[in-house]
Amino acid sequence: AMYQAKKNGRNQYVLYHDGMQHHNGKQLFQLETALRKALERGEFELYYQPQLDVKTKQIRAVEALIRWNHPEKGFISPGMFIPLAEESGLITPISDWIMMQACEHLKQLQLRFPYIKMSINISPIYFQQIDFIEKLQKTIESVNVNPRSIELELTESAVMPHAEKSVERLTMLKTMGISIAIDDFGTGFSSLSYLHRFPIDILKIDRSFIKQLSRYREESAIVNAIIMMAHSLQIRVVAEGVETKKQYQILEKQSCDFVQGYYVSKPLSISELYEFLDMWNHL
Ligand code: C2E
Ligand code: CA
Ligand code: CA
Ligand code: CA
Repeated sequence: AMYQAKKNGRNQYVLYHDGMQHHNGKQLFQLETALRKALERGEFELYYQPQLDVKTKQIRAVEALIRWNHPEKGFISPGMFIPLAEESGLITPISDWIMMQACEHLKQLQLRFPYIKMSINISPIYFQQIDFIEKLQKTIESVNVNPRSIELELTESAVMPHAEKSVERLTMLKTMGISIAIDDFGTGFSSLSYLHRFPIDILKIDRSFIKQLSRYREESAIVNAIIMMAHSLQIRVVAEGVETKKQYQILEKQSCDFVQGYYVSKPLSISELYEFLDMWNHL
């Protein structure tokens, strides 16, 4: 439904939402220009979705989720423009901005909520760039934020194609103190053997499994199996897209470590997040 935004656009790029490979050189150029302008004009904003620790009932982390407030088209979903940014090459400056902004917000947040961690989505393309770690280190140093409070979310598709290089890179990140989460777990078709070969701290179970949790016993068995497997590998588990009390209760019973979703909170602007955390702590 979010893809409907394309119809009122004067810019051609929005017309091509699904088959990204259909972009020709001119369209890519226009797209790149549009995204670059958006970056210059400050049209991107990070929202933050709280993640609840099921045992302590504390908010342990927030996930940074990018928003594009287009002056004419209004809100454009990241599910739409991130793939376009990846295709056009603008994912690099956008990701640089995300890292800096998320670290700055984290630094400020911790003055009031010292325990909070920041989870940041990393595009596979950005992850595979040679200077990725160097840039990240510079950002962390310039903001003077604790790397132990930073978690990076990578999908299986980001790490699998270059497994050996990825192990090396992930190990470097671990050495820096950064945690690694595998995003959308269960949606890829890769083998599970990488789980113990890669230094992974967290698995995020994809929303598609959680959605059916209260309805089908099979779904519950799958989620339970993922949690048990992860725990036996000393990996902790986040359930994504938890929307109902029922889902939460099932996950709690299955010893899921953390939950994220509308049941706890929608993604919030930075000022809403301060209010939310204040309120949560006073409950
Ligand atoms: P994701 O990383 O799997 O993020 C979770 C998505 O699920 C978010 O959508 C979030 O708003 C949504 N969500 C959270 N809780 C619930 C729930 O209870 N129910 C439902 N129905 N949805 C829920 P969003 O913000 O539209 O982001 C979509 C995708 O865009 C993300 O999926 C991620 O792949 C990508 N993305 C977002 N921000 C960034 C970013 O800063 N960098 C990169 N590289 N990708 C990003
Ligand atoms: Ca994510
Ligand atoms: Ca996810
Ligand atoms: Ca997803």
